[in-house]
Amino acid sequence: MALDDIDVPVAYDAVETHDELIRWSRAYCARAVEQYEFAVDLEPVEWEVSTRAKRRAAAVKTPQFDDAAVGERLDWASHSPSGQTPPCTMSLSWRAFESFERSEWAATLRHELVHVEQFQAYGATDHGQAFKRRADAVDAPFRVRRFTDPKYVLTCTDCGDDVAYRYRECKLVRQPTAYRSSCCEATLSCIQPADET
Ligand SMILES: [Zn+2]
Ligand SMILES: [Zn+2]
Repeated sequence: MALDDIDVPVAYDAVETHDELIRWSRAYCARAVEQYEFAVDLEPVEWEVSTRAKRRAAAVKTPQFDDAAVGERLDWASHSPSGQTPPCTMSLSWRAFESFERSEWAATLRHELVHVEQFQAYGATDHGQAFKRRADAVDAPFRVRRFTDPKYVLTCTDCGDDVAYRYRECKLVRQPTAYRSSCCEATLSCIQPADET
């Protein structure tokens, strides 16, 4: 998707598709680059939405350069085939987006923009002291909150919809048949997604 393809982004709470999530996130990043004065070129940044059960809310995937190090400016003219800043990919977790409020999602994107900024300058990125200082300066978390998939999923035995998620064992998990779903007034069943491979 080229930058020009971006029309007016939808409101965060109205995002329903992967394309809309990318459009919203990309538009937010364009504003953040201005506002927080990131030395980032968004043009070579590629975007993807991951639906795989990942624990990270977002990640920047970059090519690896053996001689690159954070703090040492990399000369792209001799390091990338095009002589230009090579692409890196912003990978967004759909499930994290679903569980994050707008402000936390925006802060997550700023964290990832620090990685992009480091990568575009040095060809490498990490979570070292320079990263920490930069993250503080742009009001981004040093570590993005780990997004944990629920250990237990309670489903309605009638319609099959997900009714509740639990991250640890509890009464609901131990005795799902003692509860009724609000959708169908049916009993619940409990599955452990981790067991399904
Ligand atoms: Zn990070
Ligand atoms: Zn139901």
